[in-house]
Amino acid sequence: MEDRHLQMLLAATGDYAGGIDGAFGPRSNAAMLAVELRHADQYTFDPTSTTDHRRQTACAQACLNQLNYAAGIVDGWFGVNTTEALNSFLFKITNGREEVIERNPLADFSPSGDIPRQRDVANIYGDPNTQIPGRLTTIQLPFKLRIDHNLRQSTNKIRVHRDCAQQLEAALIAVRAHYGAEKMNHLGIDRYAGAYNKRRMRGGTKWSMHAYGCAIDFYAAPNGLRVKCPQALFCGAKYKPFLDIMQEHEWLPAIRLWGKDAMHFQRARL
Ligand SMILES: [Zn+2]
Repeated sequence: MEDRHLQMLLAATGDYAGGIDGAFGPRSNAAMLAVELRHADQYTFDPTSTTDHRRQTACAQACLNQLNYAAGIVDGWFGVNTTEALNSFLFKITNGREEVIERNPLADFSPSGDIPRQRDVANIYGDPNTQIPGRLTTIQLPFKLRIDHNLRQSTNKIRVHRDCAQQLEAALIAVRAHYGAEKMNHLGIDRYAGAYNKRRMRGGTKWSMHAYGCAIDFYAAPNGLRVKCPQALFCGAKYKPFLDIMQEHEWLPAIRLWGKDAMHFQRARL
């Protein structure tokens, strides 16, 4: 993240009135401290005992959350949620309106299986405020996935809706059996970028499928929200078995549903 972007955020939260010059000096630091004090309950670590870079990322997350751009937990790691929250913020202040991302269904895609439609997920999976938190379960894979935005970390635990968990677990075990550990690593398929997350849809106002616990993301950077085939990495031939296996297990690739956001898979049709 550029220093000037953090200054723009600090100006938007009313903490900073200095120049948007990318020179992160005493006034910028004082503004950052004010954010840290005000949002101390959101921080998952002590911001004064880490690197400047991580501290500034965390400050940006806290500002974005305050401004309702849903950066996720304030952990100082610049992942896909922080990136997209910042993108939305920058779009708004540049254009004076919220970005709208079209998600029109692709004509020739009709997956098999008893998969809920997006418009029905509130009835079938539950209400993200009142019901979903009690219906989440944690899958424990027999192998680990790397954390996409911090590759030194890994996990074998994924939190999703209980009605989607078996399918996802089976899908990922089948993906692993097809590719093997080394190839998954080489292709970046093992770069886990998040599942359950109570937030609104990017470039929209409805709940994200992530808020229902029926969505998961992998390898965000080359598979962006706005990127179509053939530019998106997961459109490549080497990734076809990955997408096929996920789809066979009712976890549908967004790149096949609406032709963008290749990082994203969901157990919901359009
Ligand atoms: Zn997603």
